[in-house]
Amino acid sequence: MAYTIKNGILSHSANAVRQVRSPNTGGPFPQPPAIAVIHFTAGGSAASSANWFASKQNKNSSAHVVIDRDGTIIQCVPFDQVAWHAGKSTWRNLSGLNRYSIGIELANWGALQGGPGNWHNASGQKIENVFVGTHRNGNPDGSHKPIGWEAYPPAQFEAAVALVKALKAAAYPITEIVGHDDIAPVRKSDPGPAFNMARFREYALGGRDDNGANTAVIKSPGGLNLRAGPGTAHAVILLLADGTKVLPIGLNGSWLEVTVLDSAGNPTKTGWVHSHYVDLD
Ligand SMILES: [Zn+2]
Repeated sequence: MAYTIKNGILSHSANAVRQVRSPNTGGPFPQPPAIAVIHFTAGGSAASSANWFASKQNKNSSAHVVIDRDGTIIQCVPFDQVAWHAGKSTWRNLSGLNRYSIGIELANWGALQGGPGNWHNASGQKIENVFVGTHRNGNPDGSHKPIGWEAYPPAQFEAAVALVKALKAAAYPITEIVGHDDIAPVRKSDPGPAFNMARFREYALGGRDDNGANTAVIKSPGGLNLRAGPGTAHAVILLLADGTKVLPIGLNGSWLEVTVLDSAGNPTKTGWVHSHYVDLD
């Protein structure tokens, strides 16, 4: 994904991405932002959220970008200016994270209502792509039981990874990625349990090349199924022994596409494994 950034503006294949400029900004950063904050919009399309940010009436809200479910990125605030996405927030020795961070909004409904087979948003719209889990800080309704959250499609996750990589390539000193629920844990639940933050940090910050230059190791005492596709519905190609070395070459949700290496480090078969059982370090 060929994203580049020049003068604070994001381009894809040399063309600026769609700009829906928000007037709700705080001027130039006092120092280059070193943190990226991940959010969900609790809304429909990315365009609808960008239009919300574009209204002066919503003067306390904006973000640098909104990423749609299909991975399309809309830019609302140039990366060299402060956006209003974090609100009252603290992280390590910092408070008021807007002045220190890039705000990345993901189009996503967040916590859903209903139950298995009938998860819907607050407007009653049924959501098909659902992750069931408990928010580590407690769910928005105060419960501590698994509930439905809209899942983040791989294309959206990968676009966010590509964006952070583009920021780093453009010399923005991003060294840390946090959720809004990390920096405002009492008020906020975004991006929530459906967002695989550990995986995101590994991919966006880990220096891991998209072409999988770094090897990883299978960590599963009973072995791990190598499958023909990203999910347990796909056929098992073979059982990989604990300690097998692999070369990650792709990502789809929590599934990694890997090339299996033999003991001499030569590539053998390619397939998919669940990333939970892969040690990427
Ligand atoms: Zn947020």
